[in-house]
Amino acid sequence: MERIDVAVIGAGVTGLASARAIAERGQPVCVLERHPRPGMDTSTHNSGVIHAGMYYPAGTLKARLCVEGRRLLYEFCARQGVPHRKSGKLIVAHDEGERQQLEALKARGDANGVEGLEIVDREFIAEREPAVDAPVALWSPETGIVNAEELVKALLRSATDAGAIFLPGTKLVGADRQSDGMVLRTEREQIHARVVVNAAGLYADDVSRMLGGETFTIYPCRGEYVELAPSKRSIVNGLVYPLPHQHSLGVHIVKTMNDDVWLGPTACFQERKDDYESHRLPVEAFVEPARRLLHGITIDDMRLGGSGIRPKLHPPSESFADFLIRRDRENPFVVQAAGIESPGLTSCLAVGRLVAQLTDAGD
Ligand SMILES: Cc1cc2nc3c(=O)[nH]c(=O)nc-3n(C[C@H](O)[C@H](O)[C@H](O)COP(=O)(O)OP(=O)(O)OC[C@H]3O[C@@H](n4cnc5c(N)ncnc54)[C@H](O)[C@@H]3O)c2cc1C
Repeated sequence: MERIDVAVIGAGVTGLASARAIAERGQPVCVLERHPRPGMDTSTHNSGVIHAGMYYPAGTLKARLCVEGRRLLYEFCARQGVPHRKSGKLIVAHDEGERQQLEALKARGDANGVEGLEIVDREFIAEREPAVDAPVALWSPETGIVNAEELVKALLRSATDAGAIFLPGTKLVGADRQSDGMVLRTEREQIHARVVVNAAGLYADDVSRMLGGETFTIYPCRGEYVELAPSKRSIVNGLVYPLPHQHSLGVHIVKTMNDDVWLGPTACFQERKDDYESHRLPVEAFVEPARRLLHGITIDDMRLGGSGIRPKLHPPSESFADFLIRRDRENPFVVQAAGIESPGLTSCLAVGRLVAQLTDAGD
């Protein structure tokens, strides 16, 4: 049986950034990933937005790790050559009630330490996004966009350069607790680890159960996108959002690093964790949200795009749960990094740092 100090379950951005931070501290670490390649689940099925950090209640892990993670991510992308752009973003409002919500969002962002937030007028909006029809908006200059696939590759590269061992096609199927750590069972082998990090995304509840850790439920919540036709891509320059909704930041417009324009994601809870396609919303469902953000868009300008599934820690009846990142309360050999929905891509390097601290022998 192989022995390792730390085993990370899951090679999305959370697991890879954690493995990198652990390896950089000189601790032997491996990453078990059930798929043949890293990042094939949520880490490459998202908007790719580098969030500034104004949406999350003050004092939450989401607020702190988003702001810290965003700064780390810009530095990392610049150093590692990951395609990204600090494009800034507009959150638009259409009436007085919405304007007050923008003010509240700005106050929350200011409290979270988000730099440069500004309420702007029609002229400012028209200068940046001529196709947006709104009298007022919140301008966030620190928000940006990253190529998520290239980010995953760079995280894997820098984790393995630091000494982490990547085990693709290696699914955790069971585990036994011992006096000095955990024996992990995969389809081929057994691995003894002093500490196991649960970074299994949509399957973190199943993995926690296997590890004898805390009980919680991941509620899958699908988000779907449409893409604008190539002829319409040039009418958008960056990121345009409505005010946030109960379960998401609202159907927004993203100009990706490939210069495609996506509109989405919607939010719909579902049973399955691996169903990206059945019962897709028709393109018609995106016409109204598109019109509230841009003029000159018709149904003929849109076609179905991708989708992603949020690993939410709360059911549809609730609207917020924080990231679950801590030493497990049932099993001291487990560190949880679960419920990592948005802003998990933005926060990954800060999450990784925190996870690495939690794997310390003294914790
Ligand atoms: C529609 C949508 C839009 C989003 N937009 C943004 C955005 O714009 N900005 C932002 O910051 N965040 C965004 N997010 C959130 C972000 O994508 C996630 O927070 C992040 O990707 C989570 O990464 P992860 O590594 O925790 O999970 P994942 O990427 O899901 O990785 C978990 C890994 O664990 C593996 N695994 C599971 N079970 C096992 C097992 N038993 N054995 C071995 N491996 C296992 C899986 O195969 C998977 O690769 C969005 C999410 C969605 C769904």
